[in-house]
Amino acid sequence: TGARTTTAEGRSVVLDGITHRYGGAVAVENVNLDIRAGELVSLLGPSGCGKTTLLRIVAGFLRQTEGRVIVGDQVIDALPPSRRAVGIVFQNYALFPHLTVAENVAYGLAARGASRAEQGSEARRLLDLVKLGHVAARLPRQLSGGQQQRVALARALAIRPAVLLLDEPFAALDKNLRLDMQIEVKRLQRVAGVTTLLVTHDQEEALSLSDRVAVLSQGRLEQFAPPTTVYDAPGSLFVNTFVGAANTMPGVLLGADATGARIALDAGAEIVARPLAQAVAAGGRVVACLRPEHLRLAETGEDGIAGVVEMALPLGPTIVHEVRVGAGSPIKIAEPRLGGGAPRAPGTPVRVLAAPGLACAFPAAA
Ligand code: ATP
Repeated sequence: TGARTTTAEGRSVVLDGITHRYGGAVAVENVNLDIRAGELVSLLGPSGCGKTTLLRIVAGFLRQTEGRVIVGDQVIDALPPSRRAVGIVFQNYALFPHLTVAENVAYGLAARGASRAEQGSEARRLLDLVKLGHVAARLPRQLSGGQQQRVALARALAIRPAVLLLDEPFAALDKNLRLDMQIEVKRLQRVAGVTTLLVTHDQEEALSLSDRVAVLSQGRLEQFAPPTTVYDAPGSLFVNTFVGAANTMPGVLLGADATGARIALDAGAEIVARPLAQAVAAGGRVVACLRPEHLRLAETGEDGIAGVVEMALPLGPTIVHEVRVGAGSPIKIAEPRLGGGAPRAPGTPVRVLAAPGLACAFPAAA
């Protein structure tokens, strides 16, 4: 029957040179992404970077100006949304208010010509999967936000999509519920084996859920890599500062090779950074990105960057100090407390030491 012939297995998704212009304005510029079958990929970036535009292009709501979308071995650009085997979950759930939960889940199956019996059994199976079998006869407004989102997810999975598109699906949920739903979505995505594209501006969400993260800025793909690579070896200054916290400190490149880069910081210390992602000639200006957890406080008299404590923030497992070094804004240092470690008083002179080989450096803007 119609419903059974749609794919149960996720398929690969290739965005091949996608460019989109609204009128004359470029929203997405030559984006290339090669997503494996069953993979969960996040599109991560600040507001206006083109995430939603890309999602709408894959869904078929928007026709790209240039490039191709390939699902499995098929170019799908000519297919209308209803024939793309794509399931979509929106931030606002977008459930049909006058249909019961079960009818909402069965909706896509009905539209694809599944029999009543099949609609019923599939709806039950999916509602059990999202642990909502007991509310099948209710209307959406009789559910909590988290429950409504699970119904939306069940509805999207009911058509056995080749691709699942999630557009900021957790944004409307409060913090605890959001974490539960994130774990739930990850579990269901694994079980269903469905290739998933998640749009989010939340970097923690992208890092924790994704197999790979596509970081976008101003319509361009900055980096496409596994979460730990994006975090530890960001491909650009933008990625380093957008994903996770980073103290940016200007300096001069003393020398670089495949093992690392030696940098003289303007703040008055020499550090060893990771090998450069983008080449810089020796003597050239760079911006070093030092994550707070790459730094530790030492006593005066040791090497390192001289500074003065401005503020201490004991956060429980870690303690963060803000330290003024030179004229710029204070830098943050995050140290594990390991059951000890008292905050230092504001005004205390200190040295800041950087763990070798962890910071990243990028060419300074010309
Ligand atoms: P957000 O997180 O705020 O939703 P986004 O990353 O999803 O942002 P898009 O909605 O894809 O970004 O928008 C990318 C760019 O295209 C932005 O500059 C936006 O102003 C512009 N844009 C989006 N939709 C339209 C439209 N219908 N007409 C004209 N410009 C648009």
